[in-house]
Amino acid sequence: MLSFNLFPKSKPRKFNTFNRHEDIAERTDPTSRVTLSRDENLYLCNTRCCPDCGNKLLPGPCGGCSQNMACSNIECASEFNGSIGFGWLERNGKISAERYRTIYGRE
Ligand SMILES: [Zn+2]
Repeated sequence: MLSFNLFPKSKPRKFNTFNRHEDIAERTDPTSRVTLSRDENLYLCNTRCCPDCGNKLLPGPCGGCSQNMACSNIECASEFNGSIGFGWLERNGKISAERYRTIYGRE
């Protein structure tokens, strides 16, 4: 069972300028591997929700100081990579149904 190894109990920062995940989805291409802005990172790390649909992120494989995480909504299937603890995330694009099943155990 995968867990949020890099997800600390405390949140990285208590302030940021974002309060709508739609702003991130509008600015960035969900199919791209875009590095998100500082404010966007902090918003995602604090909410731990997918910016594309608003559902919670699932913990994935962890290596070094970063961890993969995918949207819990299989229709959305956006994946991210980074570290919640460091307040840093980047897009991994949309993942395949096979990766979603084999890595995150969902179908
Ligand atoms: Zn999503």
